[in-house]
Amino acid sequence: MTAPGRPATLGQQAQPADAERPSPAAVVSASSRLRPAWAEIDLGAIRHNASVLAELVAPAGLCAVVKAWAYGHGPVRVAQAALAGGATWLAVALVEEGRQLRTAGITAPVLLLSEPATTAMREVVRSGLTPTVYSAEGVAALAVAARDGAADGSRTPTPVHVKVDTGMHRVGATPEDAIGVALDVASRPELRLEGLWTHFAVADEPDSPETARQLSQLLAVADELRSLGIEPALLHAANSAGALYHPEARLGLVRCGIALYGLAPAVALAGEAPADRLRRALSLRAQVSFVKTVQAGERLSYGLRYEVPVPSVVATVPLGYADGVTRSLGATGGQVLIGGRRYPIAGTVTMDQILVDCGPDADVAVGDVAVLLGRQGREEITAWEWAGRTGSIAYEVICGVSARVPRVYR
Ligand SMILES: *Cc1c(COP(=O)(O)O)cnc(C)c1O
Repeated sequence: MTAPGRPATLGQQAQPADAERPSPAAVVSASSRLRPAWAEIDLGAIRHNASVLAELVAPAGLCAVVKAWAYGHGPVRVAQAALAGGATWLAVALVEEGRQLRTAGITAPVLLLSEPATTAMREVVRSGLTPTVYSAEGVAALAVAARDGAADGSRTPTPVHVKVDTGMHRVGATPEDAIGVALDVASRPELRLEGLWTHFAVADEPDSPETARQLSQLLAVADELRSLGIEPALLHAANSAGALYHPEARLGLVRCGIALYGLAPAVALAGEAPADRLRRALSLRAQVSFVKTVQAGERLSYGLRYEVPVPSVVATVPLGYADGVTRSLGATGGQVLIGGRRYPIAGTVTMDQILVDCGPDADVAVGDVAVLLGRQGREEITAWEWAGRTGSIAYEVICGVSARVPRVYR
């Protein structure tokens, strides 16, 4: 908190009261970006989580899911940390995301989790990505792109994974159609059927029988293909929840996103084994930018919806909904940590700033570090706590930290 006589200057290095203060490098680098607000990404936590997961699921392999800008953490740095921790595959949603990994020099296999547009297949081949397919049009377009790619000098067939829809009904071929798609792939010399996979809808509800049913449907397709003389090298089904709570679903590979970032796949599972061995990798922080005392009965922020009950120290923190701070947090009990204590977000979250009611006697000054997500002292605000207040899930909270917030890696 505030040292007596400390000049309360922006960009001045804050002295947070907790043991886990941001490293000096983190604060300096955040300050050099002029607004003292940043997301701190703990790459050691990513690496740790990857090694915990890799060890847990062995002999299955670990595929680190780094779609959506690695759930807000930054895909290239996360991919490197996950590979260092024992992941052997990466997965992304978009061809653009895969290309970004290649441009950064990452050579590990990169699985595309949905079938790319037929017009994107050339880029898939050019970037050496591993496409998922589930339509005849997709296979045909990919084969053309792979043949043209081969004319450019690449001789090896393009590896392909066929996705079976076993119940979620988002994307994938029905179990019946998947046989035809797989045979189509296997019949084309430019392509190589490497994988067969599905995706679970309720693996985060460990007691649901649906996951076992989905798994058995995938295995039935694999059996039928085997009887036709076709055996993909890799079967996979599990997301984080599948990998953590359904050991029989680990198969050859698990595709972990949320667990890699240190979060349980469902709030009911947070803090329980084995997710309790994971370390959260993202925290959202800013230095208090303005402090004033507000008289009892005064109201705060847009709509004047929050009334200060007693004369209070009100701090302004320079993060708002344009940074991913959910607007409804202002009305649903959202809190921040300052000096290792919890204080309420007071009134409406605005685009660039929030107000924090620090109460009558708070020793809070400009430059103090406020934590919106993460640990300070003995307190921690998790993405699941935030999500619980806003009717959301931890996934959306961390993906929602916007591009405007600089990421600081340690
Ligand atoms: C996003 C995604 C995953 C990762 O899910 P988590 O719950 O974050 O582990 C795995 N597989 C597919 C198909 C996905 O879309």
